[in-house]
Amino acid sequence: MDCLFCKIIAGEIPSAKVYEDDMIYAFRDIAPQTPVHILFVPKKHIASADGITSENSAYVARIFEVIPKIAASEGLTSGYRVITNCGEDACQSVKHLHFHLLGGTQMAEKMA
Ligand code: AMP
Repeated sequence: MDCLFCKIIAGEIPSAKVYEDDMIYAFRDIAPQTPVHILFVPKKHIASADGITSENSAYVARIFEVIPKIAASEGLTSGYRVITNCGEDACQSVKHLHFHLLGGTQMAEKMA
């Protein structure tokens, strides 16, 4: 499958790894939009939030269990934002489910 994030998970494309376990991988976004900008991806290919099911939702649960720990280790003591873009209207550019962890600055109240 020609998927950028599958290749990053497999180590075929380099990335700045922040965290890895048996189910998920986290790495720094190549074009950070905030001082801390980390992407969390399931090791299983799921195309977007539309592809989350009762069979694979454990990957999503794991991501959300780990995010607070990484946020703390990155020093995000005054808050952070977690975003997933799903589909064209949301400008999803990589078709492998990922959650953006953004922090390290005061963000705008509006998200769109
Ligand atoms: P989205 O627009 O929600 O699909 O987010 C895709 C994100 O992947 C963007 O924030 C990109 O900057 C990021 N990205 C694309 N290629 C790479 C890469 N090789 N390493 C790290 N992040 C990447």
